[in-house]
Amino acid sequence: MDETHDYDLLIIGGGMVGASLACALAGSGLRAAVVEAVPLRAQEQPSYDDRSIALAYGTRCIFAGMGLWSSLRDVVTPIRCIHVSQHGRFGVTRLAAKDYGLEALGYVVENRELGRVFAQHLKSLDKEVTLFCPARLQALDFGAERVTATVEQDGKTLALRAALVVGADGGRSLVRRLAAVPSREWDYGQSAVIANVTPGRPHDGVAYERFTDSGPLAMLPLGRNRCALVWTVARGSEDELLALDDEAFLSRLQARFGRRLGTLRKVGRRQAYPLILIRAEHSLVPRLALVGNAARTLHPVAGQGFNLGLRDVAALAEVLWDARRRGEDPGAAAVLRRYLDWRRDDQRRVVAVTDGLVRLFTNPFPPLAWARSLGLALLDVLPPCKRLLARQFMGFAGRQPRLARGLRLEY
Ligand SMILES: Cc1cc2nc3c(=O)[nH]c(=O)nc-3n(C[C@H](O)[C@H](O)[C@H](O)COP(=O)(O)OP(=O)(O)OC[C@H]3O[C@@H](n4cnc5c(N)ncnc54)[C@H](O)[C@@H]3O)c2cc1C
Repeated sequence: MDETHDYDLLIIGGGMVGASLACALAGSGLRAAVVEAVPLRAQEQPSYDDRSIALAYGTRCIFAGMGLWSSLRDVVTPIRCIHVSQHGRFGVTRLAAKDYGLEALGYVVENRELGRVFAQHLKSLDKEVTLFCPARLQALDFGAERVTATVEQDGKTLALRAALVVGADGGRSLVRRLAAVPSREWDYGQSAVIANVTPGRPHDGVAYERFTDSGPLAMLPLGRNRCALVWTVARGSEDELLALDDEAFLSRLQARFGRRLGTLRKVGRRQAYPLILIRAEHSLVPRLALVGNAARTLHPVAGQGFNLGLRDVAALAEVLWDARRRGEDPGAAAVLRRYLDWRRDDQRRVVAVTDGLVRLFTNPFPPLAWARSLGLALLDVLPPCKRLLARQFMGFAGRQPRLARGLRLEY
């Protein structure tokens, strides 16, 4: 070993979820380190790539509690209304922020902007959080009192020891594998094609979610005159869509999406992502917590993955902060049990809702298609049901962490 370092907490993965946890713990007195394989602002960064994501209103509250919202406010686009429909069928449901007395139901942000904000913030926390980047986890050794991570950086081998290791290293998590946590996978047989699109008409802050027979298609408002497209297609068709010239791509998209945004004029760089549900069978493992995609990778329908991951981060940060105040070991089973028990219901609900939506809306059985249309139309005229749906989308279901209630963790 070239060097050995000791911390209270070691976060593997400085993507959206790992970086959020490091920022949330600032001021806790816990000494933390983040190990990230790819520089946060590099073109090839897998978390802060060409995508844009929808942040729920609850996520805004958590970022505000963490002191990050002021850096994000100017680069997000508010979602003032959500419009849900089915391709080629009747029935529409609309959710409007003004019905709930809010300025927005959520916000759209480019992942690269998130990367920029996290990189800046982590730099300002350099006395509390040590960032090893680019550096890659190679091995983990779980001892009774500490975990030792073997990390490669600049040709050196480092031993990083901590009371708790947090796996935030994405869907193909090495931490999960090294800790022998089993996982279950369901391949949806779909891929998401993403791109930025310039519509002919202003988006007016409306996010469109349109269910088609090949999967959901979302057009999210982005900036003044662009939309972020997430188009789910049957696996195998994405290569053809990526290879089309811009004009042919836009005409295919127009046929699927319709004319609610007028004539689609321009499309930017396209990229595709295979869609697989991955769930860690995460019963308690002392000295280990899995968060974000490492714990569960979801279908992007309804934009729930990161929002759920951030609620987990807010809860874990609170549990660790309180444990620290009581002088408890942050990796102790009793501390981790508090976090797992708290978050189980929300996690199960979000997996069930996203997975259920995909299965329900891609089922071609004609009576079901008709029932879906009727359901969307009925939902639109039933305010209490809409309120439940809006609460779920905004991330307000279940017990809220202090950060989500706008309180500081030291409260
Ligand atoms: C098309 C699409 C659209 C989406 N839209 C939304 C949306 O609108 N709203 C929403 O909430 N969610 C959305 N999501 C989900 C969201 O992208 C994920 O929830 C989020 O990226 C999870 O972040 P993460 O940090 O857990 O994992 P990742 O983003 O995968 O980051 C993992 C990090 O770990 C690093 N890493 C991996 N292995 C190692 C190693 N051995 N050593 C060191 N570092 C390592 C990687 O370099 C990476 O930076 C979408 C997903 C897709 C695919």
